[in-house]
Amino acid sequence: MYIAVVNWKKCNGCGECINACPSKCFEMSDGKCWAQQATDCIDCGNCPDICPEEALAVAVGWGG
Ligand code: SF4
Ligand code: SF4
Repeated sequence: MYIAVVNWKKCNGCGECINACPSKCFEMSDGKCWAQQATDCIDCGNCPDICPEEALAVAVGWGG
């Protein structure tokens, strides 16, 4: 299982990750990205590449 992780201290609210994620993991809330569907991540690699603030990472969760 993969989990999308947002560093809110770095996020500038640009919204690029919302458009880039094929699994629609992200939503905007109060001007920051929120990984509403974090565990739907398929580790496609788009969001760590596209985020201008390096605020996004993918964690590997338990359960394979
Ligand atoms: S791409 Fe990065 S800076 Fe932009 S909204 Fe997503 S997490 Fe925030
Ligand atoms: S790695 Fe891909 S699937 Fe996972 S949160 Fe980022 S854009 Fe979405």
